[in-house]
Amino acid sequence: MPISYISTRGRAPRLSFEEVLLAGLASDGGLYVPDNLPHFERDQIKAMRGLPYNELAFVILKPFVEGSIPEDDLKVLIDDTYAVFRHEAVAPLVQLGHNQWVLELFHGPTLAFKDFALQLLGRLLDYVLQKRDQKVVIMGATSGDTGSAAIEGCRRCSNIDIYILHPHERVSEVQRRQMTTVVGGNIHNLAIKGNFDDCQSMVKASFVAEPFLPENRSLVAVNSINWARIMAQIVYYFYAALALGGPDRAVNFSVPTGNFGDIFAGYLARGMGLPIDRLVIATNKNDVLHRLLTTGKYSRLQLEQSLSPSMDITVSSNFERLMFDLYDRSGDAVFDLMQQFQSGEIELSASAMSEARALFASQCVSDDETCAEIARVWRDNEYLLDPHSAIGTRAAWDCRVDASSPMVTLATAHPAKFPDAIANSGVSEKAKLPAHLVDLFERPERFCVLDNDLAKVQQHMAATVSV
Ligand SMILES: *Cc1c(COP(=O)(O)O)cnc(C)c1O
Repeated sequence: MPISYISTRGRAPRLSFEEVLLAGLASDGGLYVPDNLPHFERDQIKAMRGLPYNELAFVILKPFVEGSIPEDDLKVLIDDTYAVFRHEAVAPLVQLGHNQWVLELFHGPTLAFKDFALQLLGRLLDYVLQKRDQKVVIMGATSGDTGSAAIEGCRRCSNIDIYILHPHERVSEVQRRQMTTVVGGNIHNLAIKGNFDDCQSMVKASFVAEPFLPENRSLVAVNSINWARIMAQIVYYFYAALALGGPDRAVNFSVPTGNFGDIFAGYLARGMGLPIDRLVIATNKNDVLHRLLTTGKYSRLQLEQSLSPSMDITVSSNFERLMFDLYDRSGDAVFDLMQQFQSGEIELSASAMSEARALFASQCVSDDETCAEIARVWRDNEYLLDPHSAIGTRAAWDCRVDASSPMVTLATAHPAKFPDAIANSGVSEKAKLPAHLVDLFERPERFCVLDNDLAKVQQHMAATVSV
């Protein structure tokens, strides 16, 4: 039986992989998860040792797409996806200290880990849309990295128009230019006079609103509520663990966390049979998850700007996917909790909390600590960390319980993306942009500035859809 996908709130239709790829949010407001997780025996995992990244990805992802994409086609899509990464190893491991490692996930075209999922998502969408002879509109909000990765992943898809909303003058210049300098009639950058939450709300509202697009153009989501993104991220947990002695030896991961998509993929890797000891949730001062693990309460606070903008969130959307498991996959329980959460705060049951604490550790790292960590690692290793990754290595250090087992921090962005944070840390070394981006600051930009007004944004979209 191929895997099918069910909603965390239990009231939406069960979907195939192909359908879930195009779905985004479930019709009951929930998120899609596999009805059951593929499981690999220890011997099967051992047999994966030494596989190059693309071949490993094929083995891990095959069961998730069965019934929707023939194996030979999947293989081609995966090979194409990871061939554009600039490092031969795709996701190289770098050692920072005794049993302390960094998994560099920033060798994709836009220099952040989001390329791992969005390069694949773009190709999967293109494949499925061509087969169905269907055209769609992608709408997404970004605080920086998602937008450029999504644009890069979909720029060559002739059946897709892509609209990315970013908060006007609130993303870094490198991040903005990575979006606005990409040429293509199907690429639309909208700078909204508001903050990231405003952009996000407009996207959410557009998914539930009356249709505002020309006929036959449905909306597709590219943020991490899209299941295919989570799925693609499972692979590098296997890749790193296998390189460090897995499955005979368990490893730990520290993950710079915002929406809980990346670390949720690590949780799934463990569920699929990969021995993982600890998963450390590393957050900046927007620490909704760290507060949850310490107090048992999941509560929304005001958004705070930090030096790690890609982790500036008030709630972590993908946490709902974990909640579904913590409540024994009861859609009713999650439905009720999410209803209650409209008030801004819920308290999780004692059994859910004890399970969550057995699975995850957490640490909140301030801006000052982030800068100190960038400076420390530069001093000790002459290695430049971006501020997101520095939060990861700092939390890895604080949460380590067993120095004899490897701790891998996911380095989620290239340091050249965040030169200001590095300068703030007192490190005079400058990270160089890779060769394909050296002229980024000379390229012409294209974007529209729009008011923080949903009707205007939707009118603009309806009037400019090109495909
Ligand atoms: C998106 C992002 C994160 C957060 O990942 P989530 O899946 O939202 O938890 C961390 N670091 C960087 C650089 C990012 O772009």
